[in-house]
Amino acid sequence: MSVQPAGIESGDTAAAPAVPAFAIRNLTKMYGPVAAVDDVSLDIPQGAFLTLLGPSGSGKTTILMAIAGFIAPTSGEILREQKSITTLPPDKRNFGMVFQGYALFPHMTVEDNVWFPLRVRGVSKSQAAGRIGEALEMVQLGALAARLPTELSGGQQQRVALARALVFQPDLLLLDEPLSALDKKLRADLQWELKDLHRKLGTTFVYVTHDQEEALSMSDEIVILRDGRIEQSGDPLTLYERPATRFVADFLGKSNFLAGEVADREDGRFRYRIGGETFLQAGAASDAHVVMALRPEKLMVFNTRPDTANAMQGEIEQFNYYGANYHFKVTTSALGDVIVTVPAWRCEVEPRIGNRIWIGWEPDAAVVVADT
Ligand code: ADP
Ligand code: MG
Repeated sequence: MSVQPAGIESGDTAAAPAVPAFAIRNLTKMYGPVAAVDDVSLDIPQGAFLTLLGPSGSGKTTILMAIAGFIAPTSGEILREQKSITTLPPDKRNFGMVFQGYALFPHMTVEDNVWFPLRVRGVSKSQAAGRIGEALEMVQLGALAARLPTELSGGQQQRVALARALVFQPDLLLLDEPLSALDKKLRADLQWELKDLHRKLGTTFVYVTHDQEEALSMSDEIVILRDGRIEQSGDPLTLYERPATRFVADFLGKSNFLAGEVADREDGRFRYRIGGETFLQAGAASDAHVVMALRPEKLMVFNTRPDTANAMQGEIEQFNYYGANYHFKVTTSALGDVIVTVPAWRCEVEPRIGNRIWIGWEPDAAVVVADT
Protein backbone atom coordinates (compact mmCIF):
# COMPACT_ATOMS: atom_id res chain seq x y z
CA MET A 1 0.00 0.00 0.00
CA SER A 2 1.38 3.36 -0.90
CA VAL A 3 1.17 5.92 1.82
CA GLN A 4 -0.42 9.05 0.46
CA PRO A 5 0.38 12.53 1.70
CA ALA A 6 -2.09 13.85 4.23
CA GLY A 7 -4.13 15.89 1.79
CA ILE A 8 -3.57 19.48 0.79
CA GLU A 9 -3.02 22.02 3.52
CA SER A 10 -6.12 24.07 4.10
CA GLY A 11 -4.27 27.29 3.27
CA ASP A 12 -3.81 26.07 -0.31
CA THR A 13 -7.51 25.57 -0.88
CA ALA A 14 -8.85 28.68 0.82
CA ALA A 15 -10.98 29.67 -2.17
CA ALA A 16 -12.28 26.17 -2.97
CA PRO A 17 -15.99 25.68 -2.37
CA ALA A 18 -16.60 23.29 0.49
CA VAL A 19 -18.18 20.27 -1.21
CA PRO A 20 -18.12 17.51 1.38
CA ALA A 21 -16.70 14.16 0.21
CA PHE A 22 -19.69 12.40 1.74
CA ALA A 23 -22.94 13.57 3.20
CA ILE A 24 -26.01 12.20 4.91
CA ARG A 25 -29.30 13.91 4.13
CA ASN A 26 -32.38 13.47 6.32
CA LEU A 27 -31.54 9.88 7.16
CA THR A 28 -34.31 8.04 9.00
CA LYS A 29 -34.37 4.36 9.90
CA MET A 30 -37.51 2.92 11.46
CA TYR A 31 -37.75 -0.42 13.22
CA GLY A 32 -41.50 -0.81 13.54
CA PRO A 33 -42.67 2.33 15.33
CA VAL A 34 -39.18 3.08 16.70
CA ALA A 35 -36.89 5.50 14.90
CA ALA A 36 -33.35 4.18 15.42
CA VAL A 37 -32.18 7.19 13.39
CA ASP A 38 -34.43 10.21 13.12
CA ASP A 39 -33.83 12.77 10.36
CA VAL A 40 -30.04 12.98 10.61
CA SER A 41 -28.11 15.21 8.20
CA LEU A 42 -24.36 15.70 8.28
CA ASP A 43 -21.40 16.49 6.06
CA ILE A 44 -18.22 14.42 6.04
CA PRO A 45 -15.36 16.50 4.61
CA GLN A 46 -12.57 14.81 2.66
CA GLY A 47 -9.84 13.63 5.03
CA ALA A 48 -11.89 14.30 8.18
CA PHE A 49 -11.78 12.32 11.37
CA LEU A 50 -15.45 12.52 12.25
CA THR A 51 -16.78 10.81 15.35
CA LEU A 52 -20.33 9.75 16.14
CA LEU A 53 -20.62 9.85 19.92
CA GLY A 54 -23.60 8.88 22.01
CA PRO A 55 -24.92 6.50 24.62
CA SER A 56 -25.81 2.93 23.80
CA GLY A 57 -28.90 2.81 21.58
CA SER A 58 -28.54 6.36 20.26
CA GLY A 59 -28.26 5.20 16.63
CA LYS A 60 -24.49 5.26 15.98
CA THR A 61 -24.17 1.79 14.48
CA THR A 62 -27.31 2.24 12.40
CA ILE A 63 -25.88 5.40 10.82
CA LEU A 64 -22.55 3.69 10.13
CA MET A 65 -24.27 0.66 8.59
CA ALA A 66 -26.38 2.93 6.39
CA ILE A 67 -23.19 4.67 5.17
CA ALA A 68 -21.65 1.24 4.50
CA GLY A 69 -24.76 0.10 2.66
CA PHE A 70 -25.66 -2.78 4.96
CA ILE A 71 -28.83 -1.05 6.16
CA ALA A 72 -31.35 0.47 3.76
CA PRO A 73 -32.66 3.79 5.08
CA THR A 74 -36.41 4.16 5.57
CA SER A 75 -35.93 7.61 4.06
CA GLY A 76 -33.11 9.99 3.32
CA GLU A 77 -29.92 9.70 1.32
CA ILE A 78 -26.24 8.94 1.48
CA LEU A 79 -24.29 11.16 -0.91
CA ARG A 80 -20.82 10.90 -2.34
CA GLU A 81 -19.67 14.13 -3.92
CA GLN A 82 -23.32 15.17 -4.08
CA LYS A 83 -24.45 12.02 -5.93
CA SER A 84 -26.68 9.51 -4.21
CA ILE A 85 -25.13 6.14 -3.35
CA THR A 86 -28.10 5.18 -1.18
CA THR A 87 -28.92 2.07 -3.20
CA LEU A 88 -25.37 1.16 -4.24
CA PRO A 89 -24.42 -2.30 -2.90
CA PRO A 90 -21.79 -2.29 -0.10
CA ASP A 91 -19.12 -4.01 -2.22
CA LYS A 92 -19.37 -1.24 -4.83
CA ARG A 93 -18.70 1.54 -2.32
CA ASN A 94 -15.00 0.82 -1.66
CA PHE A 95 -15.30 1.52 2.06
CA GLY A 96 -13.22 -0.18 4.74
CA MET A 97 -14.77 -1.32 8.00
CA VAL A 98 -13.42 -2.20 11.42
CA PHE A 99 -15.71 -3.52 14.14
CA GLN A 100 -15.39 -4.00 17.87
CA GLY A 101 -15.19 -7.81 17.56
CA TYR A 102 -12.14 -8.37 15.39
CA ALA A 103 -14.06 -10.44 12.83
CA LEU A 104 -10.88 -11.97 11.42
CA PHE A 105 -11.13 -15.26 9.53
CA PRO A 106 -9.89 -17.66 12.21
CA HIS A 107 -8.56 -20.33 9.84
CA MET A 108 -6.55 -17.83 7.75
CA THR A 109 -3.10 -16.49 8.59
CA VAL A 110 -2.62 -12.81 9.27
CA GLU A 111 -1.27 -12.39 5.75
CA ASP A 112 -4.24 -14.16 4.16
CA ASN A 113 -6.68 -12.11 6.22
CA VAL A 114 -5.11 -8.94 4.88
CA TRP A 115 -5.01 -10.38 1.35
CA PHE A 116 -8.74 -11.22 1.49
CA PRO A 117 -10.19 -7.86 0.29
CA LEU A 118 -7.68 -7.84 -2.57
CA ARG A 119 -8.45 -11.48 -3.39
CA VAL A 120 -12.16 -10.72 -3.80
CA ARG A 121 -11.07 -7.93 -6.14
CA GLY A 122 -9.23 -10.51 -8.25
CA VAL A 123 -5.68 -9.73 -7.08
CA SER A 124 -3.45 -12.82 -6.75
CA LYS A 125 -1.36 -13.33 -3.66
CA SER A 126 1.89 -12.73 -5.49
CA GLN A 127 0.51 -9.52 -7.00
CA ALA A 128 -0.71 -8.46 -3.57
CA ALA A 129 2.46 -9.36 -1.64
CA GLY A 130 3.91 -5.86 -1.65
CA ARG A 131 0.70 -4.21 -0.54
CA ILE A 132 0.05 -6.82 2.16
CA GLY A 133 3.57 -6.30 3.47
CA GLU A 134 3.17 -2.53 3.55
CA ALA A 135 -0.21 -2.72 5.28
CA LEU A 136 1.24 -5.02 7.95
CA GLU A 137 4.26 -2.76 8.42
CA MET A 138 1.89 0.16 8.80
CA VAL A 139 0.32 -1.50 11.84
CA GLN A 140 3.66 -2.89 13.05
CA LEU A 141 2.82 -6.52 12.40
CA GLY A 142 5.32 -7.31 9.65
CA ALA A 143 6.92 -10.04 11.73
CA LEU A 144 3.67 -11.86 12.46
CA ALA A 145 2.38 -12.40 8.91
CA ALA A 146 2.37 -16.20 9.16
CA ARG A 147 0.46 -16.43 12.44
CA LEU A 148 -3.15 -17.37 12.96
CA PRO A 149 -5.50 -14.88 14.70
CA THR A 150 -5.70 -17.17 17.76
CA GLU A 151 -1.94 -16.68 18.19
CA LEU A 152 -2.35 -12.91 18.57
CA SER A 153 -3.35 -10.62 21.43
CA GLY A 154 -6.53 -8.55 21.20
CA GLY A 155 -4.60 -5.44 20.25
CA GLN A 156 -2.69 -7.31 17.54
CA GLN A 157 -5.91 -8.78 16.15
CA GLN A 158 -7.41 -5.32 15.94
CA ARG A 159 -4.29 -4.13 14.10
CA VAL A 160 -4.78 -6.94 11.56
CA ALA A 161 -8.41 -5.85 11.14
CA LEU A 162 -7.17 -2.32 10.51
CA ALA A 163 -4.58 -3.49 7.94
CA ARG A 164 -7.28 -5.53 6.20
CA ALA A 165 -9.61 -2.52 6.09
CA LEU A 166 -6.90 -0.25 4.66
CA VAL A 167 -5.03 -2.54 2.26
CA PHE A 168 -7.30 -1.77 -0.70
CA GLN A 169 -7.06 1.99 -0.14
CA PRO A 170 -10.70 2.61 0.74
CA ASP A 171 -12.25 5.99 0.05
CA LEU A 172 -13.74 5.95 3.53
CA LEU A 173 -12.87 4.01 6.66
CA LEU A 174 -15.77 3.20 9.01
CA LEU A 175 -14.84 2.17 12.53
CA ASP A 176 -17.46 0.94 15.02
CA GLU A 177 -16.10 1.02 18.58
CA PRO A 178 -12.88 -0.63 17.36
CA LEU A 179 -11.04 -0.25 20.67
CA SER A 180 -13.74 -0.95 23.22
CA ALA A 181 -12.75 -4.59 23.77
CA LEU A 182 -9.19 -3.59 24.69
CA ASP A 183 -7.86 -2.71 28.11
CA LYS A 184 -7.32 0.93 28.97
CA LYS A 185 -3.60 1.22 28.36
CA LEU A 186 -3.67 -0.63 25.05
CA ARG A 187 -6.65 1.47 24.01
CA ALA A 188 -4.64 4.62 24.68
CA ASP A 189 -1.71 3.28 22.61
CA LEU A 190 -3.97 2.41 19.70
CA GLN A 191 -5.64 5.82 19.87
CA TRP A 192 -2.26 7.41 19.16
CA GLU A 193 -1.59 4.92 16.37
CA LEU A 194 -4.97 5.40 14.73
CA LYS A 195 -4.61 9.14 14.80
CA ASP A 196 -1.11 8.90 13.38
CA LEU A 197 -2.35 6.59 10.63
CA HIS A 198 -5.17 8.95 9.81
CA ARG A 199 -2.74 11.82 9.48
CA LYS A 200 -0.30 9.86 7.30
CA LEU A 201 -2.89 8.34 4.96
CA GLY A 202 -5.27 11.25 4.66
CA THR A 203 -8.17 8.77 4.41
CA THR A 204 -11.56 9.99 5.63
CA PHE A 205 -12.48 8.29 8.92
CA VAL A 206 -15.94 7.95 10.45
CA TYR A 207 -15.48 6.66 13.95
CA VAL A 208 -18.15 5.43 16.36
CA THR A 209 -17.62 5.43 20.10
CA HIS A 210 -19.51 5.85 23.35
CA ASP A 211 -16.26 6.88 25.06
CA GLN A 212 -16.20 10.65 25.43
CA GLU A 213 -12.46 10.90 26.09
CA GLU A 214 -11.74 8.88 22.98
CA ALA A 215 -13.97 11.20 20.98
CA LEU A 216 -12.37 14.34 22.40
CA SER A 217 -8.80 13.17 21.90
CA MET A 218 -9.08 11.80 18.36
CA SER A 219 -11.65 13.74 16.36
CA ASP A 220 -11.67 16.80 14.13
CA GLU A 221 -15.40 16.86 14.55
CA ILE A 222 -17.77 15.16 16.97
CA VAL A 223 -21.46 14.55 16.30
CA ILE A 224 -23.33 13.89 19.53
CA LEU A 225 -26.35 11.63 19.14
CA ARG A 226 -29.29 11.30 21.46
CA ASP A 227 -32.22 9.00 20.71
CA GLY A 228 -31.41 8.86 16.99
CA ARG A 229 -31.07 12.62 16.59
CA ILE A 230 -28.13 14.99 16.45
CA GLU A 231 -27.99 16.84 19.74
CA GLN A 232 -24.98 19.00 18.88
CA SER A 233 -21.94 18.81 16.61
CA GLY A 234 -18.67 20.67 16.44
CA ASP A 235 -14.97 20.44 17.10
CA PRO A 236 -13.96 18.90 20.44
CA LEU A 237 -12.96 22.18 22.06
CA THR A 238 -16.19 23.96 21.14
CA LEU A 239 -18.35 21.08 22.33
CA TYR A 240 -16.51 20.79 25.61
CA GLU A 241 -16.35 24.52 26.31
CA ARG A 242 -19.75 25.47 24.86
CA PRO A 243 -22.17 22.60 25.40
CA ALA A 244 -25.60 23.76 24.24
CA THR A 245 -27.64 21.48 26.47
CA ARG A 246 -27.52 19.81 29.84
CA PHE A 247 -27.28 16.47 28.04
CA VAL A 248 -24.09 17.45 26.18
CA ALA A 249 -22.51 19.03 29.26
CA ASP A 250 -23.20 15.83 31.16
CA PHE A 251 -22.25 13.31 28.48
CA LEU A 252 -19.08 15.00 27.26
CA GLY A 253 -17.02 15.35 30.42
CA LYS A 254 -18.53 15.97 33.82
CA SER A 255 -20.46 19.01 34.95
CA ASN A 256 -22.05 20.49 38.03
CA PHE A 257 -25.43 21.98 37.21
CA LEU A 258 -26.50 25.18 38.93
CA ALA A 259 -30.17 26.02 38.45
CA GLY A 260 -31.22 29.48 39.59
CA GLU A 261 -33.45 32.50 39.10
CA VAL A 262 -32.15 35.57 37.33
CA ALA A 263 -31.83 38.45 39.79
CA ASP A 264 -30.57 41.21 37.52
CA ARG A 265 -28.98 41.69 34.13
CA GLU A 266 -26.02 43.84 33.15
CA ASP A 267 -24.16 44.29 29.92
CA GLY A 268 -22.71 40.86 29.01
CA ARG A 269 -23.40 39.31 32.39
CA PHE A 270 -26.12 38.65 34.93
CA ARG A 271 -26.71 37.67 38.51
CA TYR A 272 -28.71 34.68 39.55
CA ARG A 273 -29.97 33.40 42.86
CA ILE A 274 -29.86 29.90 44.30
CA GLY A 275 -30.91 29.12 47.87
CA GLY A 276 -30.60 32.69 49.11
CA GLU A 277 -27.12 33.21 47.59
CA THR A 278 -26.33 35.33 44.53
CA PHE A 279 -23.78 34.49 41.87
CA LEU A 280 -22.34 36.30 38.86
CA GLN A 281 -22.37 34.73 35.41
CA ALA A 282 -20.94 35.88 32.07
CA GLY A 283 -23.23 35.86 29.02
CA ALA A 284 -26.91 36.47 28.52
CA ALA A 285 -29.89 34.94 30.27
CA SER A 286 -32.91 34.74 28.00
CA ASP A 287 -35.25 33.23 30.60
CA ALA A 288 -36.00 34.00 34.22
CA HIS A 289 -34.90 30.48 35.14
CA VAL A 290 -31.35 29.56 34.10
CA VAL A 291 -29.18 26.46 34.24
CA MET A 292 -25.39 26.72 34.26
CA ALA A 293 -22.95 23.89 33.60
CA LEU A 294 -19.81 24.26 35.69
CA ARG A 295 -16.90 21.91 35.00
CA PRO A 296 -15.27 20.41 38.13
CA GLU A 297 -11.81 21.61 37.01
CA LYS A 298 -13.00 25.21 36.65
CA LEU A 299 -13.68 25.49 40.36
CA MET A 300 -10.92 26.17 42.84
CA VAL A 301 -10.59 25.24 46.52
CA PHE A 302 -9.31 27.53 49.28
CA ASN A 303 -8.77 27.51 53.03
CA THR A 304 -10.13 31.02 53.44
CA ARG A 305 -12.65 33.12 51.56
CA PRO A 306 -11.18 33.73 48.09
CA ASP A 307 -11.49 36.95 46.09
CA THR A 308 -13.07 35.12 43.13
CA ALA A 309 -16.33 36.65 41.86
CA ASN A 310 -18.26 33.65 43.18
CA ALA A 311 -17.46 31.89 46.45
CA MET A 312 -19.20 29.42 48.74
CA GLN A 313 -18.19 27.76 51.95
CA GLY A 314 -18.61 24.01 52.16
CA GLU A 315 -17.44 20.82 53.73
CA ILE A 316 -15.47 18.00 52.15
CA GLU A 317 -17.93 15.13 52.19
CA GLN A 318 -15.77 12.76 50.19
CA PHE A 319 -12.62 12.80 48.13
CA ASN A 320 -10.74 10.54 45.74
CA TYR A 321 -7.04 10.73 44.98
CA TYR A 322 -6.09 9.92 41.37
CA GLY A 323 -2.39 10.68 41.49
CA ALA A 324 -2.59 13.67 39.20
CA ASN A 325 -5.79 15.05 40.75
CA TYR A 326 -8.02 15.10 43.76
CA HIS A 327 -11.74 14.87 43.17
CA PHE A 328 -13.63 16.50 46.03
CA LYS A 329 -17.31 16.26 46.77
CA VAL A 330 -18.03 19.46 48.65
CA THR A 331 -21.39 19.94 50.37
CA THR A 332 -22.64 23.53 50.40
CA SER A 333 -25.80 25.06 51.82
CA ALA A 334 -27.01 26.82 48.65
CA LEU A 335 -25.71 24.52 45.91
CA GLY A 336 -25.86 21.09 47.49
CA ASP A 337 -23.01 18.78 46.47
CA VAL A 338 -20.41 20.27 44.15
CA ILE A 339 -17.68 18.18 42.49
CA VAL A 340 -14.29 19.87 42.25
CA THR A 341 -11.18 18.52 40.51
CA VAL A 342 -7.88 19.95 41.72
CA PRO A 343 -4.37 19.16 40.45
CA ALA A 344 -2.74 17.37 43.40
CA TRP A 345 0.49 19.37 43.17
CA ARG A 346 -1.26 22.65 43.82
CA CYS A 347 -4.03 21.63 46.15
CA GLU A 348 -3.87 24.05 49.08
CA VAL A 349 -6.56 22.46 51.22
CA GLU A 350 -6.03 19.43 53.40
CA PRO A 351 -7.86 16.49 51.81
CA ARG A 352 -9.82 15.30 54.82
CA ILE A 353 -13.48 14.39 55.20
CA GLY A 354 -15.23 17.06 57.26
CA ASN A 355 -12.69 19.80 56.41
CA ARG A 356 -14.46 23.18 56.06
CA ILE A 357 -13.17 24.85 52.92
CA TRP A 358 -14.16 27.43 50.31
CA ILE A 359 -14.88 26.90 46.66
CA GLY A 360 -14.61 29.72 44.15
CA TRP A 361 -15.15 30.31 40.46
CA GLU A 362 -15.19 33.16 37.97
CA PRO A 363 -18.23 34.35 35.96
CA ASP A 364 -16.90 32.82 32.74
CA ALA A 365 -16.08 29.43 34.31
CA ALA A 366 -19.66 28.22 33.81
CA VAL A 367 -21.82 28.21 30.68
CA VAL A 368 -25.54 28.68 30.34
CA VAL A 369 -27.16 25.53 28.91
CA ALA A 370 -30.63 24.63 27.71
CA ASP A 371 -32.31 22.53 30.39
CA THR A 372 -32.88 19.42 28.26
P1 ADP B 1 -25.84 2.40 19.08
O1 ADP B 1 -24.90 1.87 18.07
O2 ADP B 1 -25.73 3.89 19.30
O3 ADP B 1 -25.77 1.67 20.38
P2 ADP B 1 -27.91 1.33 17.37
O4 ADP B 1 -27.77 2.06 16.08
O5 ADP B 1 -27.35 -0.05 17.41
O6 ADP B 1 -27.35 2.21 18.55
O7 ADP B 1 -29.45 1.22 17.73
C1 ADP B 1 -30.32 2.34 17.77
C2 ADP B 1 -31.70 1.90 18.19
O8 ADP B 1 -32.28 1.06 17.20
C3 ADP B 1 -31.75 1.10 19.48
O9 ADP B 1 -32.88 1.45 20.17
C4 ADP B 1 -31.83 -0.33 18.98
O10 ADP B 1 -32.46 -1.14 19.94
C5 ADP B 1 -32.63 -0.19 17.72
N1 ADP B 1 -32.27 -1.22 16.73
C6 ADP B 1 -31.08 -1.34 16.13
N2 ADP B 1 -31.08 -2.37 15.24
C7 ADP B 1 -32.33 -2.91 15.31
C8 ADP B 1 -32.97 -4.00 14.63
N3 ADP B 1 -32.34 -4.74 13.70
N4 ADP B 1 -34.26 -4.25 14.94
C9 ADP B 1 -34.91 -3.50 15.84
N5 ADP B 1 -34.38 -2.46 16.50
C10 ADP B 1 -33.09 -2.17 16.24
MG1 MG C 1 -23.39 0.38 18.27
